[in-house]
Amino acid sequence: MSLKNNKVVVIGLDGATWKILMPWIKQGKLPFFKKLIDTSLYGDLESTIPPLTAPAWVSFQTGVNPGKHGVFNFVEYNDQGEEDVVNSNSVKAPRIWEILEKHGKSCCIINMPVTYPPPKTKRSIIVSSFLTPPGKPYTSPLEIQKELEKLDYKIDILFEKYGFLVNNKNLEKIKSKLFNEILLITKGRIKAINYLMNKRDWDLFFVLFKETDLIQHIFWNNVETLRYYRFLDKYLQNIYKIFANKYGDKLNFFIISDHGFDSSAEIQFSIYPWLNKEGFIKYKQDFRFKIKILKLIYKIIKKSEIKLFCNVFFLNVRDKLLNKELTDKSLNLRRNKSIWVTNFGIYLNNKDNININYLIKKIKKLKFKGKSVFKSVYEKYDLYDGPYLNKLPDIIFTPNSEFILDPNFFSKKIFSYKKQYLMGNHLSDNRGIFVYKRNYMNINRQINKINLTDLVPIINYVLSISDLSYKYDGKVPKELKKYINE
Ligand SMILES: [Zn+2]
Repeated sequence: MSLKNNKVVVIGLDGATWKILMPWIKQGKLPFFKKLIDTSLYGDLESTIPPLTAPAWVSFQTGVNPGKHGVFNFVEYNDQGEEDVVNSNSVKAPRIWEILEKHGKSCCIINMPVTYPPPKTKRSIIVSSFLTPPGKPYTSPLEIQKELEKLDYKIDILFEKYGFLVNNKNLEKIKSKLFNEILLITKGRIKAINYLMNKRDWDLFFVLFKETDLIQHIFWNNVETLRYYRFLDKYLQNIYKIFANKYGDKLNFFIISDHGFDSSAEIQFSIYPWLNKEGFIKYKQDFRFKIKILKLIYKIIKKSEIKLFCNVFFLNVRDKLLNKELTDKSLNLRRNKSIWVTNFGIYLNNKDNININYLIKKIKKLKFKGKSVFKSVYEKYDLYDGPYLNKLPDIIFTPNSEFILDPNFFSKKIFSYKKQYLMGNHLSDNRGIFVYKRNYMNINRQINKINLTDLVPIINYVLSISDLSYKYDGKVPKELKKYINE
């Protein structure tokens, strides 16, 4: 079959995992998914480490690793140590729509993370995703936004409105309300898809349902999640039919997710007290006492009317104390100190003080009640390469699914039990899903070892673009090539 005039449709389901989909598919609860995998190539899709939405989707967009595209987290830090949310300008590698446009192709990209401010395009449409500041323009070209607003399009439910990603007991009370709002967002997205897909014959059509990630965070594999997937299953069948009618045997249909998911872990591992116990950092003697007093004062004033002021005040005083009270063996990188711990890794600013290999060895060996705390621990050079490696922690790790990492400097206990109100989490699972279905294809085969960075080369291959000026980390897996060519 000729690859000429091929069309690509990619459906992104944020955080979708076979772990919950496969049992439901086998039980016949997701009929379209069942039909799809019965006649397609499917398997795991390897994500970035850490398996986080922002770096993962940017790796998808660029075909390269975070060391080359520069996005490792939702936030980044400038030279002064100030924190900012990542945006379009943080991405340092060419993205799929730039590459395709250069070859005369057109793309419709809906709800793609890290595309605010919306990049300029010639004949493509980009609709930005979450991390877009409220009230800011989110489409390219700009006129599209007005058209979408007429369809009640909303990017996301406002985090500010619920603060639900804050893991607290209030979540219980608003769960069913949240479910309905998330469903409404999806319905708006569907209206936008149905409208934009007919604007022209797109060479690449991409849409991300970010809501699957939210639903799984809140409900993990409960009935609500199934209800949501059943809704999506029906719609995906619909959209598949429409594209199949439109493009016939030129349709190349993908479903992918950016990372896996798991139930929330409740054993908290606090890294700073462990580093202290092992002698990698050292608290000054009276430090704990001062923090105690500060916390007490904070507790009293927290309930007062000037809460917001108090928060700022508390954080400022706390940080000053932190800076002052640590010996230089234990300082914080964001303020030019030597060790800075995050949920995904450890930055070592002053490597003379710490033997990194020894620290990695110690972390790898860490156990609690016979179970290893970490699934994988890497020195960044062993994992990634590229000019932006300096943005990445020196040690990058993934916890095992039973453990949740706590980077809070003020934690006391190394291991503690922490009740989680969000039922799902994905920091321990970097296996997303991959489905490739060429229209009229009739095979049922598993394919593995596909990485998110393979998608740009795969899409290029399907659209017969071979441009040697772009270098990717990913490649087109041989087995897949065979089926694309058939
Ligand atoms: Zn995600």
